[in-house]
Amino acid sequence: MARETVRVFEVGVRDGLQNEKALVSTARKITLIRGLLDAGIRDFELGAFVRPDRVPQMADTERLYAALHDRSWRLGRARAWSLVANETGLRRAIKAGARNIAIFTAATDTFARRNIGMSVKQSLQQFSRIVPEAHRRGMEVRGYVSTAFGCPFEGKVRPSRALKVVEALLGLGVSQVSIGDTIGVATPRDIEAVMRPALGLAPQEKLAGHYHDTRGTALANALRSIELGIRTLDSSAGGLGGCPFAPGAAGNLATEDLVYMLEGMGLRTGIDLDAVARLSVGFSRFLRKPPASRYVAAFAASCDRSRSRKR
Ligand code: MG
Repeated sequence: MARETVRVFEVGVRDGLQNEKALVSTARKITLIRGLLDAGIRDFELGAFVRPDRVPQMADTERLYAALHDRSWRLGRARAWSLVANETGLRRAIKAGARNIAIFTAATDTFARRNIGMSVKQSLQQFSRIVPEAHRRGMEVRGYVSTAFGCPFEGKVRPSRALKVVEALLGLGVSQVSIGDTIGVATPRDIEAVMRPALGLAPQEKLAGHYHDTRGTALANALRSIELGIRTLDSSAGGLGGCPFAPGAAGNLATEDLVYMLEGMGLRTGIDLDAVARLSVGFSRFLRKPPASRYVAAFAASCDRSRSRKR
C-alpha cells in the first residue's frame, strides 16, 4: 500500500530568519535554499514583499527571485512562496516574477494592528482586492492566520474568533489557510477545538497547522493535527527563528523533529532528514547558537562521537 503523504512546508528562510537577530546575506540564504531543495523540500517561504525598513532581513527578496530565475537553478516541482502585505507588495511580487504568494492577518485586532497596521476586518477588505488580482495573474495565494490560539496582547483566543478569519480567507479563494499558534501557547486540546471545525469548513488540503514550540507543545500539536486529518504542517529547518514575544524561547516547530516523527509513523514526506539536519548544524554554527531542533542536537552529537571514534 502506498504510504500517505504529508506536505512539510518549510518556513525557515522567511519566518525563521526574520526572527533571528543576525542579518543573513543573500548568498548565505541561497546556499541554504539550494540545500533545502536538494534535501527534497517542495514548498518553502523565500521572502516577504514588506517594507525593508521595517523588516531588513527580507530586504533582498527581489534579489532572491532573480537568483531563483537564474537558469542554473533546479527548482523542479518546488515552489517558492513570499509574503505580500498590501497592494504595493503585490506589485513588487508581480515584478519579481513570484508565482506563489501568501497574505497574512490574525485572529486578534491588537496583533493585526501591530503587525500589519490595520484591523482584521480592514486586512480582509484589502485581501478582497489583492487575491482576485493575484489570481488573474495566475498566482496561487496562501493565507495565514496568526494568533489563532493565543495573542501576546489579548490573551487566550476563542476558537470561534479564529474560525471566522479562517472562513473569511477561504471565502476569498485562497488555496490554503495556515492556522498559526504564533506565541506557542496551544495544547493538543486547543488544536482539536480549532482544527476539527475547520475541517468541516474545508477539505484537508486547504488547511495547514503552523506551530511554535515556545512551551514545548509544537510536536504534540502537529501529532494531534495529523490524527485529525491535517496533511500540511509548517516548520523551519533546525527550528530557525525565535519568538519576538518571548526572547530566548524556541520559535517554529523544527522540520527535522517533524519529519522524524512523521516518517517514523509511516507517513511520507519526501524529505531527506539527515540532509536537512546537516544543513542546520552548519547554520547553527554560523548563527553561533545551538539548534532549537532536538533531532539536530542528537544528530550533531552522534556525528561528533563517530568522528572521535575514527581518530
Ligand atoms: Mg512561525
